[in-house]
Amino acid sequence: MRRIDFTNTQVASSETARDINRSVVLNLIRRRQPISRADLARVSGLQRSTVSLITEQLIEESWVVYGPTGRLPRGRRPTYLRLNEQRAILVADIRPAQTTVALADVNGRFLAQAAFLTPADAAAGAQNISARIRELMKAHPKLVFEGIGISLPGRFEPATKRVIFAPNLKWRQFDLKTSIEKATGLRVELENAANACVLAEVWFGHAENVRDMIVVTVSEGIGTGIFLNGQLMRGSHGMAGEFGHVSMDPAGPKCTCGGLGCWEVFGSNRAALRYYHDSRANSDDFNFQDLLTLANAGDALAAGALEKMARALGRGMRMLMAGLAPEEIVVVGECTTQWQRFGPVIETEVAAGVLFGQPPRIRPAEGNMARLRGSVALVLQNHFGASANADEAEIAGPARKLARS
Ligand SMILES: [Zn+2]
Repeated sequence: MRRIDFTNTQVASSETARDINRSVVLNLIRRRQPISRADLARVSGLQRSTVSLITEQLIEESWVVYGPTGRLPRGRRPTYLRLNEQRAILVADIRPAQTTVALADVNGRFLAQAAFLTPADAAAGAQNISARIRELMKAHPKLVFEGIGISLPGRFEPATKRVIFAPNLKWRQFDLKTSIEKATGLRVELENAANACVLAEVWFGHAENVRDMIVVTVSEGIGTGIFLNGQLMRGSHGMAGEFGHVSMDPAGPKCTCGGLGCWEVFGSNRAALRYYHDSRANSDDFNFQDLLTLANAGDALAAGALEKMARALGRGMRMLMAGLAPEEIVVVGECTTQWQRFGPVIETEVAAGVLFGQPPRIRPAEGNMARLRGSVALVLQNHFGASANADEAEIAGPARKLARS
């Protein structure tokens, strides 16, 4: 099946053709390693000589190394290729309460991780992240560091990379990118947390064959990352996906964005805590994890608060379903640890809003590393191309999409 994205079709100069072929080969090695040159040629449809040329170059640039030597039943032994695990990516996930810094190899395996309280001020945040990153680099002197990927609960202006909207973080406009680049000497890629989770699904998850997917991140607020026609949607000022700040009840509680009754005021972790506190005497240092634990232990008020949150989450997802018709909605957040509690309520609410056909599949993201994994992909896509899901079905020649999403 040939997939062409007409909005991003480029005329293939010999240079773009070379870039496409390189990206195709690199992605095939990534997905199918260890793989022989012969298999690369067979699967990609490229000439053996082209594959050899490209792989030599990738080996020279130390993206690819010789893997284990495979044994064929008869004849010669092919030499297998795999990605060079000495190539590493540094990542940070900034959340309102806590920031995590981690080190991963080129296959998205995490080698080290550290967390600290997120400072109230952006400059201090940048300083702390840079310091932890320098520590990680020092502790792993043999690795080649490719760059830094950062996910944050907000939006930044694509042109200037300045953070322009991060109501839950409360950081003022600040040039996070330049500040961390100066302090570490590495290139920094920023991404909205929900968009990073989309990348995590596309690169490392099972979403390789899904063309229309929405990731909903549920934490202090609600964010969405929109992946349509196999592309991440950014919109004007990079603001696409702020469904969390669509008002569902103008008489509702005040939101951090300044609006009233936004979706996230009803469907976020914070909302569940508010529902719980409304139904009993206020307790002081009580967080969402405590609420989950309490509900699990059979506390009816806690379970009721979570159910109310789940209902609001599902009701809001009707907006996504009606407006964008995704095949799949992937939920990221602490609530997925009790999916048996949240999933059925969300599904019922969504199903009640179906306009035609089947409701989208709704599933929790795998593991709790989506934001960090997506930040790894953020850096990798500079080298592998935006479309990481290269496979024989998609390698269709020079018109393959090239967009850096
Ligand atoms: Zn809002």
